[in-house]
Amino acid sequence: MDFNLAVIKGDGIGPEIVDEAIKVLDAAAAVYGHKFNYTRVLMGGESIDACGVPLTDEAIETCRRSDAVLMGSIGGNTATSPWYKLEPSLRPEAGLLKLRKSLGLFANLRPAYLYDDLAQACPLKKEIADKGIDLIIVRELTGGLYFGARSTVEQNGVLKATDTLTYNENEIRRIAVKGFDIAMKRRRKLTCVDKANVLDSSRLWRKVVQEVAKDYPEVEYSFMLVDNCAMQLVRDPSQFDVVLTENMFGDILSDEASEITGSLGMLSSASLCETSFGLYEPSHGSAPDIAGTGKANPIATILSAAMLLRYSLNLGKEADAVENAVREVLREGYRTADIMSDGCTQLTCSQMGDAVAKAIR
Ligand code: NAD
Repeated sequence: MDFNLAVIKGDGIGPEIVDEAIKVLDAAAAVYGHKFNYTRVLMGGESIDACGVPLTDEAIETCRRSDAVLMGSIGGNTATSPWYKLEPSLRPEAGLLKLRKSLGLFANLRPAYLYDDLAQACPLKKEIADKGIDLIIVRELTGGLYFGARSTVEQNGVLKATDTLTYNENEIRRIAVKGFDIAMKRRRKLTCVDKANVLDSSRLWRKVVQEVAKDYPEVEYSFMLVDNCAMQLVRDPSQFDVVLTENMFGDILSDEASEITGSLGMLSSASLCETSFGLYEPSHGSAPDIAGTGKANPIATILSAAMLLRYSLNLGKEADAVENAVREVLREGYRTADIMSDGCTQLTCSQMGDAVAKAIR
């Protein structure tokens, strides 16, 4: 089949890591008989330099017309880059926020997976790590505390700040549906994380999630309080498959979940809307400190491309092939500088892309 992908290479190591992901996508296309047509879209610093703004309306339209967007990373050195002397709405990150908003990307997916061959990078005790980590955080991205009304006022000489946490049932339902859909593509287990012992919004989440669950009888689901979840993630992360949660809890838990796998260069992410369309990018930034040195690890971006295959193009076999290829290359002892260990062979960014592409079956 033919698919149209918008490609945002971005800044720093963005172009290097995206080139490797494209190499791997093309290898998968050759093996499975597909064709990917790529359209370059500028965003972030590269768009500021070329167009004066971090994202143009034409760029948004190109993304909207595509089947999915593959992205590297945007931004420069925040201390030295001239992009950060611009007003906030013209800085690189404003482009990404505008894109997420314009495309209605309300669901953020962050998988945390511990590769057997990288287990020494896991900061947890060996007996915990040995049970494995293979979970995905499904976080609501456009509602809750970060988007509610806020104010700071002075009353009788005392400053008072207020943030509001609001969700309506439709916002909860659409993310719950995403969570259950994803559980159906994985091990069919979902944990909804909230603070229902205190918050009304959490109690509404529970009610709506229970309603949605009726359409997914194959998925085993449960509820967990967020404080307990933070603890369980370090005591026994193997118990989790899909973790469904609201915006702020997801923000915190997804960082915790990534940390327990030990390596930033390996972590993919996706942001989805109500259709199958989505934006796929590594969890890390543009690493300007190593841009152009060949030291960037392209695996997070390659794994983001695997998510793109699975969630936007519904190509599960092809996604498995990419993930298996990454596993095989690591098992053979190939590493980029950030995950290098004794007895392994160090590869450049481009060599790692070659190795993964070659291992696609
Ligand atoms: P960063 O994630 O870019 O880098 C943190 C550290 O990890 C650096 O030492 C870097 O060299 C290393 N690193 C990151 N990715 C790596 C990879 N793939 N391979 C090897 N090493 C890697 O975070 P930062 O330095 O705080 O931010 C740099 C820029 O990235 C800033 O402008 C920031 O705003 C931006 N940023 C963008 C996004 C995004 O595009 N979604 C996300 C986070 C940060």
